[in-house]
Amino acid sequence: MGSNNSQNLRDEEIKELMDETEFSKQQITRLYSRFLSLDKKGQGYLSRDDFLNVPELGVNPLGDRIIDAFFTVAETNGDKKDQQLNFRQFVRILAHFQPTSRVKKNSLNSRRDKLFFAFKMYDLNKNNYITREEFKVILNSMVGANITTDQLEKIADRTIEEADKDRDGKISFEEFCGAMEKTDIEEKMSIRFLN
Ligand code: CA
Repeated sequence: MGSNNSQNLRDEEIKELMDETEFSKQQITRLYSRFLSLDKKGQGYLSRDDFLNVPELGVNPLGDRIIDAFFTVAETNGDKKDQQLNFRQFVRILAHFQPTSRVKKNSLNSRRDKLFFAFKMYDLNKNNYITREEFKVILNSMVGANITTDQLEKIADRTIEEADKDRDGKISFEEFCGAMEKTDIEEKMSIRFLN
């Protein structure tokens, strides 16, 4: 078999990723092993299917939305089915889920970055607005089984009405930030990565 260079992470690459994120060298190395194990076909990138094989995402009602947001925030090109994430994009996406830092500014785990990621999960058609219909779809996948259609409609109406400050019937990112003002998104969107 011999050694395969693509399996090795270069030191300079690790250094660059450490600068861009707040991950330690150890964490980046660990994420790389994870990346390689997800990359079943050994192609050097992850497709939607690779993510759907992750048990936590495959069974999560929002899994599809989360995966969608991965690709949108990473600004990958091409058709949905052809989208790919390379290791760098993978690390940058996961950096959004680091606890918000009080030290490093301009990182990817600020409150605003976390909010943007959440916004992209709701913005199903990726046109930078959340409509009432989009909100209903998300709400339905989260609590659908527990409430009636009537209740769902009412919650959607009320939420959109409260957030839609300029009354154009849809929620912009700024309006979304306003609506989430009292939500502890830093806490909700943080994963404790192993050191
Ligand atoms: Ca609006």
